[in-house]
Amino acid sequence: MTDFDYAPALESRSIVTIESEYGHFINGEFVKGANHFPTINPSNEEVLSQISLGGAQDIDRAVASARVAFESTWSKMPGKERGKYLYRIARIMQERSREFAVLESLDNGKPIRESRDIDIPLACAHFFYHAGWADKLEFAGVGSSPRPLGVAGQIIPWNFPLLMLAWKIAPALAAGNTVVLKPAETTSLTALLFAQVCQQAELPAGVVNIVTGDGRTGSALVDHPGIDKIAFTGSTQVGKAIARAIAPTKKKATLELGGKAANIVFDDAPVDECVEGIVNGIFFNQGHVCCAGSRLIVQESIAEEIVSQLKVRMSKIRVGDSLDKNTDLGAINSAEQLSKITALTKSGEDEGAMRWSPECALPKKGFWFAPTVFTGVTQAHRIAQEEIFGPVLSVLTFRTPQEAIEKANNTPYGLSAGVWSEKGSRIHWASQQLKAGVIWANTFNKFDPTSPFGGYKESGWGREGGSHGLTAYLKSAEEGGNNE
Ligand code: NDP
Repeated sequence: MTDFDYAPALESRSIVTIESEYGHFINGEFVKGANHFPTINPSNEEVLSQISLGGAQDIDRAVASARVAFESTWSKMPGKERGKYLYRIARIMQERSREFAVLESLDNGKPIRESRDIDIPLACAHFFYHAGWADKLEFAGVGSSPRPLGVAGQIIPWNFPLLMLAWKIAPALAAGNTVVLKPAETTSLTALLFAQVCQQAELPAGVVNIVTGDGRTGSALVDHPGIDKIAFTGSTQVGKAIARAIAPTKKKATLELGGKAANIVFDDAPVDECVEGIVNGIFFNQGHVCCAGSRLIVQESIAEEIVSQLKVRMSKIRVGDSLDKNTDLGAINSAEQLSKITALTKSGEDEGAMRWSPECALPKKGFWFAPTVFTGVTQAHRIAQEEIFGPVLSVLTFRTPQEAIEKANNTPYGLSAGVWSEKGSRIHWASQQLKAGVIWANTFNKFDPTSPFGGYKESGWGREGGSHGLTAYLKSAEEGGNNE
C-alpha cells in the first residue's frame, strides 16, 4: 500500500502580536516588571518574549489591589451585573479565539488542532457557564445567602495554560471573589493576552491581577497573609508543600494534583473504538495531562489484539510543528520535562519492560518525544507508579475483573479512570470499585464545565467545575457574614 504524505498546512502566526517584554497586570494596568526570563517556543526553541519574575513586592501590590476591588466593588455588585462582565469576557475570548489558539500553540507546543478545537472553546465555555451562575448563587448549595471568600490566590501549570486560567478565574469571579493569578513560568503569554481581554471588557480594576514568575512567585502568593483561598493545579509534591504552608492559617484550598489513570479494557470491548480511546487517553496534549490514561489495563485474552492494533494506529500519529494543522502530537513543553520523560522511560527499559515506538522523524530543533508504548509492565515498575506526564503508555494485563480493579487502584493517585465494555452492568460495577474522581465509560478525556473534576488520595482536594467547583469559592452566611 502507498502512504501519502501530508503537505504542511501551517496556521499563520500573523494574527498574534507578541511584545518583546512583559510586565505584570495589576489593578487593571500593565506595570513594569523586573528580572526578566525568556519564554520560548518548544517546537523550535525560538525566544518569543521576556517575562517578568514577580517578587514579594509585586504579589503584595497585586493582593492589595484585589482586596480594594473586592471590598469596594466586586463583592458589592449584584450577581446579575457580575454575570454581564463574565459574558462579555467569554464573548471577547470567542472573538479572539484564533489569536488565543495560535499564541497557546506557540508558547506551549501543543498542536493548533487541539488549542483551536479544545482548549480555547472549553475556556470560553467555562466563562459562559459561570456567567449563568453569578445571579443564582443561592442555589449553589451553601445556603440562601452565600458569600464570597475574598481574595483568591491561583497558581496554574503549563499543560493547559488558558484553560486552567478559566477553570480558576471564572468560578471565583462568578462567586464575587477577586483574584491574583500566577501562570506557569514557561507559558505566561495567553494569561497576559487574557489581561488585555479584561481591559477590553472594562472589568473593574483589581478584580483580576496577574503576576508572572516561577515557583518562588507562587510560594510568595501562598504565604501572603491577605489571601483567603489558594487554588492550585500542578504536581503532588508542590501541592503537599502548599498544604503544609497553609495548615496553620485560615486559608481555604483546592488542590488539583497528579494522576496515573487506569484505562481498563474488558474482553467484550469494541476494539476499534477502544484503540481510538486509548490513543486519545494518552497521546492527547503530548500526554501532558493530569488525568491521562497512562496505564492501559487490558484483559489478557485480548491483549495481543489490542496492542497490535494500537501499534498500527500509533504509526499514523503525525508528530511535528505545533502550528501545522496536520499535527497530532506536538512538542514537549520544556527541556526539563523532556529529560524527566527520558529518564523515566529509561527506567522502564532498565526494569525489564519492552519498549516500542513507531518510526517517526523528529525535528532537529525543539523538544520532541515519539509516542511510546511499554508492554510487559509490572505493578512494581516505576513507569506503572509514577506520573510520566508525556506520550508514554504502560500496558498491564488482568484475568479477572477483581484483578483489574486491584491493579487500577494500586496507586497513590486517584484522579481519573476509563472502563471499556459492552455491558452496562460491568461498567457500573467497575466504576463503583474504582477510587477515582472522574470515570469515563467507553470514552476518555471528555471535559465539560458543568461536570465536577477532581481526585481522591494524592490527586488532590476538592472539585473544580459544576456547582461543586463553585461552592469552593463560597461560604454560607453563618460561616462569617460579609467576610469579617
Ligand atoms: P509544579 O507543581 O512545580 O508547577 C505548577 C505551578 O506551581 C507552576 O505555576 C509553578 O511555577 C508553581 N510552583 C512551583 N513551586 C511552587 C511553590 N513552592 N509554591 C507555589 N507554587 C509553586 O509542576 P512542574 O511544572 O514543575 O511539573 C513537574 C511535574 O508535575 C510534571 O512532570 C508533572 O508530572 C506534574 N504536573 C502535574 C500537573 C497536573 O495538572 N496534575 C500539571 C503540571 C505538572 P513555575 O512552574 O512557573 O516555576
